[in-house]
Amino acid sequence: MSDDDTVYVAAGSTRYHDYRECQGLSHAREVYERPHSSLPEDFTRCKLCSGAYHLGSSDRAMVTASRLEELDPEDVG
Ligand SMILES: [Zn+2]
Repeated sequence: MSDDDTVYVAAGSTRYHDYRECQGLSHAREVYERPHSSLPEDFTRCKLCSGAYHLGSSDRAMVTASRLEELDPEDVG
């Protein structure tokens, strides 16, 4: 992630998001697009967007992991 990436900030929040579709923004009345480099230092990155949290079975990483488990190792490569 470069400093010029666009991030998303809900009105009144000091948390920024990598993804506009983040569940952390789903209840925000207004969402602003900002260049990452323009954010004040006290803004913190959303833990959902950073991958620190995983939300249930719809989470992309968990889906990937479960799909890998389904594969027979002898069928790969
Ligand atoms: Zn987020």
